[in-house]
Amino acid sequence: MLADKDRIFTNLYGFQDWGLKAAQQRGDWDDTKALIARGQDSIIDEMKASGLRGRGGAGFPTGLKWSFMPKESKDGRPSFLVINADESEPGSCKDREILRHDPHKLIEGALVAGFAMRARAAYIYIRGEYIREAETLQAAIDEAYDAGLLGKNAAKSGYDFDVFMHRGAGAYICGEETAMIESLEGKKGQPRLKPPFPAGAGLYGCPTTVNNVESIAVVPTILRRGASWFSSFGREGNAGTKLFQISGHVEKPCVVEEAMSIPFRELIEKHCGGITGGWDNLLAVIPGGSSVPLVPAEQIMDAPMDFDGLKALGSGLGTAAVIVMDKSTDIVRAISRLSYFYKHESCGQCTPCREGTGWMWRMMERLRTGDAAVEEIDMLQQVTKQVEGHTICALGDAAAWPIQGLIRHFRPELERRIAEHNAQFMEAAE
Ligand code: NAD
Ligand code: SF4
Repeated sequence: MLADKDRIFTNLYGFQDWGLKAAQQRGDWDDTKALIARGQDSIIDEMKASGLRGRGGAGFPTGLKWSFMPKESKDGRPSFLVINADESEPGSCKDREILRHDPHKLIEGALVAGFAMRARAAYIYIRGEYIREAETLQAAIDEAYDAGLLGKNAAKSGYDFDVFMHRGAGAYICGEETAMIESLEGKKGQPRLKPPFPAGAGLYGCPTTVNNVESIAVVPTILRRGASWFSSFGREGNAGTKLFQISGHVEKPCVVEEAMSIPFRELIEKHCGGITGGWDNLLAVIPGGSSVPLVPAEQIMDAPMDFDGLKALGSGLGTAAVIVMDKSTDIVRAISRLSYFYKHESCGQCTPCREGTGWMWRMMERLRTGDAAVEEIDMLQQVTKQVEGHTICALGDAAAWPIQGLIRHFRPELERRIAEHNAQFMEAAE
């Protein structure tokens, strides 16, 4: 279990004040000028050495992503940092805790990361429903300006840097980085085709990096404590500490910072008081937010909770939003509900997603009630394959994968429902 001294988010539960003075007492904004004085290349090298992978779900190496930003401005165009606080993945609620209780970690991280990428400003795009969090974040930004930590000669570093907060309006798709950029530009939030990636053409056509809240908030601590300290947690390719969000059928749902690669059973025993009804009652787990396939109980027990460990099980770490389902769960209904979510949130821009998400949800509903033919299970699988990989953004994949996971692991349950429905139909007909 991660020792208290190794936790980055020391105010995760809001036991202390979130404000500037209290944050400084916890070590935030401690000689930020010296961090910046290390220089852009040195900061990026340190981030690469730390092994930090993006905490928004995709796990792209953070230092590498920063290195894609241009060192020289072309035609006087500025560069930008966009911070993704549009946390909307079902099950995910970690960035919310940072915004509520540790906003200065994020703001200081924005300055240091922005400097490393030669960005002129950071835009923090916050989920519209996070009303109180937005109030806290804006108040923390104002405090930082008043203390000279942002703006001209930010933190006396000689670097000018602004931070702006922008509130979303409730569309899940605006969490996709290029839809977020469109939305910031005042347009309808619809993803753009990649490439070009944002570092080539991002906000207002300028070089931009989009990073998740947690990815940016850990930066100052990594620089202060060193890349080797951070990479000493977890294992190769899966380094660091991580916020896990555990919900569903556990005794004590929680958000907790732990070392990457902690085995699932240990995570649940140590922090959540176990599974409701005991371990024999566990049915399945969605380990990384709704976009990744479920893993059945017998496979997840000893799995390392990291990118590679969960990929090996045909799933993923995603945002580390761990949704635990015990045997009281109607697993088909649960996945059908997610299908409805993706159908509802599809931006409608590309045909496989716009049409496919509706098809998948309607077929899932037929399978939920059993009012379907057995062949429709394979037909549904084919529909998911026609959506997966054939869309502009990852929402199509995210809609397909949970269904594929259900068919892979719970086909007998789907067949049982159809048989039961048919038997009832025959009985009624007699
Ligand atoms: P992605 O793999 O396409 O990209 C990840 C990041 O790496 C992006 O910033 C992208 O620009 C960059 N990148 C990838 N390849 C690159 C290349 N060749 N050159 C330069 N940059 C490159 O994934 P994505 O669509 O950004 O994110 C999908 C993930 O988002 C899913 O895994 C899901 O878990 C997660 N997600 C999170 C939330 C949330 O609330 N946090 C919501 C929905 C989805
Ligand atoms: Fe829009 Fe879906 Fe296409 Fe993404 S995959 S661009 S959400 S229609």
